[in-house]
Amino acid sequence: MSDLRDLYQETILDHTRRPRNFGALDEANCRADGYNPLCGDRVTVYVRLEDDRVADVRFAGSGCAISTASASLMTESLKGKTRKQAEELSERFHDMLTGTADAPLDPSRLGKLAVMAGVRDYPVRVKCATLVWHTLNAALEGKQDTVTTE
Ligand code: ZN
Repeated sequence: MSDLRDLYQETILDHTRRPRNFGALDEANCRADGYNPLCGDRVTVYVRLEDDRVADVRFAGSGCAISTASASLMTESLKGKTRKQAEELSERFHDMLTGTADAPLDPSRLGKLAVMAGVRDYPVRVKCATLVWHTLNAALEGKQDTVTTE
């Protein structure tokens, strides 16, 4: 189990150091801004939907290691997904980090995103990890206001 944890740590560090899909997406037709006042994380999510499918997704902003890794992993997981699948993934990710201990979510259902499961042990960091997903939801719903985790 500790080996698995090391692997998770390494993957998170890798995404923090070299975030994937980072930078504005000019062709985006959905976007939203998110802010986590507890930590100071700021993120903008850009999505290009084509026929209700995520054709491209990028993010920009500045935040802590966890928020950056979470955003990077999110963009990798979303490409090609339908809007509904993206919303389901968001719900599952949220459940993984905030679900009750009685009904823990099987992380294997989240694929690569399961590396973030360890964040659950650090409640103060959960909002860092979920910020980008809240922001994604707002982008897909076409909301204009900045999303905050408060
Ligand atoms: Zn943070």
